[in-house]
Amino acid sequence: MNDIVGFRETPILTPTEVGKARKLYVTVQHDRVTICNHKLPKTNIPKKINCECCWFAFFQGNGDLVTKLDEVLTTHGEGAIVRSQGKKFLHRFKQFMATIERFKKEAE
Ligand SMILES: [Zn+2]
Repeated sequence: MNDIVGFRETPILTPTEVGKARKLYVTVQHDRVTICNHKLPKTNIPKKINCECCWFAFFQGNGDLVTKLDEVLTTHGEGAIVRSQGKKFLHRFKQFMATIERFKKEAE
């Protein structure tokens, strides 16, 4: 086993796709998440820990984090994320990635 990543396409959206995704699901205006109107979580995990929209906006606004998490997930597995961030975080991350995958498919 080696740690080379890169053969798997990282599901990060292009700007056009992000635009589409936002219209479909979440838009952010005046530092608030439009759908739920909670304060936008920028660098820290959402205060509204059970709000799916907040989590989506959080991951969407932290592309570097998402790339890193995807790498960790690919190379070290789910356990590594659970150990550092907890089960709920992993669940929300996977939910986000699944949504992005869906957007990408719909955009094709
Ligand atoms: Zn929210």
